[in-house]
Amino acid sequence: MSREPQVTIALAGNPNAGKTSVFNALTGSRQHVGNYPGVTVDKKEGEAILEGLRVRVVDLPGTYSLTAYSLEELVARNYLIGQRPDVVVDVVDAANLERNLYLTVQLMELGVPLVVCLNMIDVAQARGMQIDARRLEELLGVPVVPTVGRRGQGVDELLRRAVAVAQAAPRWRPLVISYGSDVDQGIAELTAILEGGVPRQGLISARWLALKLLEGDSEVMGQIREDSELGRRVLPVVRRIGEHIRRTLDDDPESVIADYRYGFISSLSRQVVTHQREVRLDFSDRVDRVLTHRLFGPLFLLAVLYGAYQFVFWGAEEPVAWLEAGFAWLGGRVSEWLPPGPLRSLLVSGVIDGVGGVLGFVPLIMFMFFVIAVMEDSGYMARVAYLMDRVLRVFGLHGNSVIALIVGGGISGGCAVPGVMATRTLKDPKARLATILVVPFMNCGAKLPVYSVLIAAFFASRQAMVLFLLTLLSWALALMAARLLRSTLLGGEQAPFVMELPPYRAPTFKGLAIHTWERTWQYAKKAGTLILGVSIVMWALMTYPGLDPQARAAWQARIAAATSPAQRQELEGRMAQEELAHTWAGRMGRALSRLTAPLGFDWRTNVALVGGFAAKEVIVSTLGTAYSLGAKAEEETSLARRLAATPSWGPLKAAALMIFVMVYAPCVATVVTIRRETGSWRWPLFSLAYNTTLAYLLALVVYQGGRALGLG
Ligand code: GDP
Ligand code: MG
Repeated sequence: MSREPQVTIALAGNPNAGKTSVFNALTGSRQHVGNYPGVTVDKKEGEAILEGLRVRVVDLPGTYSLTAYSLEELVARNYLIGQRPDVVVDVVDAANLERNLYLTVQLMELGVPLVVCLNMIDVAQARGMQIDARRLEELLGVPVVPTVGRRGQGVDELLRRAVAVAQAAPRWRPLVISYGSDVDQGIAELTAILEGGVPRQGLISARWLALKLLEGDSEVMGQIREDSELGRRVLPVVRRIGEHIRRTLDDDPESVIADYRYGFISSLSRQVVTHQREVRLDFSDRVDRVLTHRLFGPLFLLAVLYGAYQFVFWGAEEPVAWLEAGFAWLGGRVSEWLPPGPLRSLLVSGVIDGVGGVLGFVPLIMFMFFVIAVMEDSGYMARVAYLMDRVLRVFGLHGNSVIALIVGGGISGGCAVPGVMATRTLKDPKARLATILVVPFMNCGAKLPVYSVLIAAFFASRQAMVLFLLTLLSWALALMAARLLRSTLLGGEQAPFVMELPPYRAPTFKGLAIHTWERTWQYAKKAGTLILGVSIVMWALMTYPGLDPQARAAWQARIAAATSPAQRQELEGRMAQEELAHTWAGRMGRALSRLTAPLGFDWRTNVALVGGFAAKEVIVSTLGTAYSLGAKAEEETSLARRLAATPSWGPLKAAALMIFVMVYAPCVATVVTIRRETGSWRWPLFSLAYNTTLAYLLALVVYQGGRALGLG
């Protein structure tokens, strides 16, 4: 009988949650008191017996949290990390559910195998609280057993389920909560560094360490500091991220993190607790009564989005026009200074039209990012996700898919790369894959210039409306594609999950300015680097080899022999077209044109679309180059005006092109990210083929359908 017990259970919980009562009910008289090594905190140990199996039960000190603030908390945490009990039973006071769940969430973030003991269920009932333990179990993904510890009620069941978990010997599976974009980015950055350089302490995840560092946990800080090499790399990053969060959110990382944890709990308790009596609601709860209401919530959301588009166009219209005029002026001046020749062509048609075409949209992107920043910083974005969750489930996605889709451009102006990365908070692998595959349908900031030019050229009177419709269309397509994937390749059950509903906060002007600027700067930086490079390559492809000298001489002779200025101009235009058609890009575009003719795309559009695979902004810059190469330098007009004046273009073609651009192959950066996030080339390749095929079919339906209806 002196063999060691085979299973160890640790009891954790807030002070007065009933831990000792549960402990006594489990162990009876088989218990003794000892000490944790080196500290004066009592360690109570005992033994329970289940069907002949001896189970060691350890009563941890009562704690509200797992930070390093108090000795009790540190002792409890170090015991969990160092001794690794087979299972942790978290004794929760059901009558104070939300406050007690704060520890539960931290235990889940640590990743220990867990069973929740929903104690004091009698007190909760007496207070008019109805707690759906089954639902709580589903949402948390760990066993939940209601008990009345004082009377030993439910304790047998608790022991049975705890032993079952222990014997299944589960791996530590840390819960991942989203802490809003600032903190999440910080965690990602730190995790990447830590994954490279820490001797992993047993089962602790790098993400957990990163989180603790941002929370300013003195113990973890100290450990990192001891490793001076790692400390030198990690601590300045921790400081910088902390500084950034303080500046943008006007609050400590610690409190922001706590807010999101409570947000997670608040959304959890909404789904499991019914109050039979009126309870006092705080400000966020009262606002949420309206904003997450089944009927008013979606109406308010639509109004917000529509208002946002009106605001963006109202604010950006003038600055975009100034910038466009500025770049056109610059192109004109450079044309005057330089003699005709390859250098002038490179600078004017390649660099200025290409990069200028993208930079010209900076104000638009900036206003978009501002709107997103207001939604994120105020906490409304989390409500949008919460609201859309009900809808998304129907399509086999999860609530957190919404954040990924929004970051990916669900409200025009995101980027698919962080969108794909934001799916990391999705636990269900199939729902996550489905989300990854539909994020590229969203209208990212790079597609926006394409829409903008086409809208300005062909739908000028209804700018906000058309963009709004494109947004709705991209969502509809993404959802349908997700539904299709989930009922074919990615079929399977949906796991329940919980969304964070952090309290509302008033955004600060400084925070909004920094968030807007950071994202705008990333966009502008891309224009100055990647887009510049691709523009030059595209210009070269669109310039060389060109007409052979004889053909060129023949054209020049015909132009010289022109009898009227009008005829001369017409011949010049035709020659420029010929010239372009004989370039590498021209050949490629023409090779594709039999395929794209049913969509109404000419070879110049094809060239732009091929370039758009590098980055979607390139579509605009390439069209800019293609159409400026044919035009005379002194014509200082924007691309939109040039397209509007080109007879082969019209609203129907523009509509087909916008839909094609929305759906076709994700850009290189996104493809690479999908490869990284899914761990194989299978899904990025699938995405390329699937999206391009779908884009082709949609554009075909729009263009041919429109023509059949006599629209163009
Ligand atoms: P600990 O601080 O977590 O160890 O909590 P204790 O086990 O000492 O319990 C605190 C108080 O709550 C004691 O007075 C217990 O008798 C009482 N208690 C424990 N469990 C229950 C329960 O399920 N229902 C009720 N009504 N009281 C309980
Ligand atoms: Mg106690």
